[in-house]
Amino acid sequence: MSSRGKREREREARAAPRGSGGGGGSSSSSSRGSSRSRREGEAERSRGRREAERGRDRDRREAAEPLPLPVDPARIKREPGTGTGSSGSGAGPGGGSSGGPVRIKREREPDGDSDPEPEPTVRYGRFDPEDQRSRHCPYLDTINKSVLDFDFEKLCSISLSHINVYACLVCGKYFQGRGLKSHAYIHSVQFSHHVFLNLHTLKFYCLPDNYEIIDSSLEDITYVLKPTFTKQQITNLDKQAKLSRAYDGTTYLPGIVGLNNIKANDYANAVLQALSNVPPLRNYFLEEDNYKNIKRPPGDIMFLLVQRFGELMRKLWNPRNFKAHVSPHEMLQAVVLCSKKNFQITKQGDGVDFLSWFLNALHSALGGTKKKKKTIVTDVFQGSMRIFTKKLPHPDLPAEEKAQLLQNAEYQETMVESTFMYLTLDLPTAPLYKDEKEQLIIPQVPLFSILAKFNGVTEKEYKTYKENFLKRFQLTKLPPYLIFCIKRFTKNNFFVEKNPTIVNFPITNVDLREYLSEEVQAVHTNTTYDLIANIVHDGKPSEGSYRIHVLHHGTGKWYELQDLQVTDILPQMITLSEAYIQIWKRREEDETNQQGA
Ligand SMILES: [Zn+2]
Repeated sequence: MSSRGKREREREARAAPRGSGGGGGSSSSSSRGSSRSRREGEAERSRGRREAERGRDRDRREAAEPLPLPVDPARIKREPGTGTGSSGSGAGPGGGSSGGPVRIKREREPDGDSDPEPEPTVRYGRFDPEDQRSRHCPYLDTINKSVLDFDFEKLCSISLSHINVYACLVCGKYFQGRGLKSHAYIHSVQFSHHVFLNLHTLKFYCLPDNYEIIDSSLEDITYVLKPTFTKQQITNLDKQAKLSRAYDGTTYLPGIVGLNNIKANDYANAVLQALSNVPPLRNYFLEEDNYKNIKRPPGDIMFLLVQRFGELMRKLWNPRNFKAHVSPHEMLQAVVLCSKKNFQITKQGDGVDFLSWFLNALHSALGGTKKKKKTIVTDVFQGSMRIFTKKLPHPDLPAEEKAQLLQNAEYQETMVESTFMYLTLDLPTAPLYKDEKEQLIIPQVPLFSILAKFNGVTEKEYKTYKENFLKRFQLTKLPPYLIFCIKRFTKNNFFVEKNPTIVNFPITNVDLREYLSEEVQAVHTNTTYDLIANIVHDGKPSEGSYRIHVLHHGTGKWYELQDLQVTDILPQMITLSEAYIQIWKRREEDETNQQGA
């Protein structure tokens, strides 16, 4: 940079068209205060445009920026040219060397949000195919990738506006605008931070000079802000075991990265992590083209969930991230908004409630309907079952009266066919056994015995306020990905109770054939499932925490994720946990067990 800076300084000294001292950035800005000299210089300027100094006022004028508003003398601050802020002059390679010139900071009325941005000129970063010597941005080396984090809400750190927000690539902060009075502009002058990225247009600018920077070396930054995936890349995601390297040297497997627990949002993180490891759902959301043209009614906010979920997917699977974790901040803000604060960042929620709400909200935001219109969500997770219901006479009635009532049509068994997104598995009531050392024994139950709820025979009693029913269930369609929710929590009038029973399950090769009716068995060829994600709830109902086990398809290995922590885990450890939500993948026709377990 220093040699480039020197060359530039020399060039500027040769070319200095207006006797501005040729001292580079800071001295050129001393001429900015005079609108007279500005107009006089017009002709000269077009002549000496290309080799001239990176004069800020000039570039701005070339860019047909509206003339500055009349300046209220009281608002002109005179500051020594050696620096306007604590960081010294730093006006670039030539900056601060000329000494003495007075820098005038011009202030105008704040730009409204809707003001057009000044039109910039263009400079190339390190390579100008036409003229390598004349126009380049000398500040690219000041970019600090280690501070860049694009996961947070894109709003100006000062005005809190979402419009025209730029990231300062030197300190990582967000500022609004590019015009003379804008926060980004002021920041660039005050702190001598010069390289900015417009977070919406993905264009780079040098401020306060106000020119666009075009340079291929900046692509990795735009990629972190907005990762994209080709079809080929998506196809290969589950076939590769290649580690990525973050900017700080940490290695990570794309898709197996931690999510910040901002306050108490680990319940949502675990669900989002689980869903991001369901290949067809993930693949759909990795490609924005799949959903960007979906028409939504005016004023609809729910589509925000779709957009944010897509962005989160792409960040989680980004092979070129600067850091080995992702913040779900924007995703969760959309969740808070769209759920009308039913789910929050600051208050622990229930993973199953969240999953259920989120899948339904995504489905309807994607244009799905209850009955007919399918979406990727229903394609992946929706199955169906028959629900047989029989009304029971009140238990306190005399036997005779009961028998009488059972003859009525009202008490005959009815059947409805119903779809489901997940199956709720009930745990047997946990007996409070204690062993000889007075330690509580944690009961265990085999998965198959709690799956018996769906065998078409097992009857379960349900009570409403005044009526009792017997229900039994039989599966009629198994989805490609089957979600089990293990009912650990029961609410009574006073508190929520947690059942700590451990479910014993094989992590592969679970055949659900016997839960299908005979005629369905005949058409359902594949009924064998392997576990791919396991969400665990640890601790007490209200103050517990969530973690998740996920299978990385490329390596065939299991990982445990808890907030930012990622560790590999032996498959046999998974079954010892208090599993709460599980996602199982149906085997394809010719697929054998890939997990080697
Ligand atoms: Zn900055």
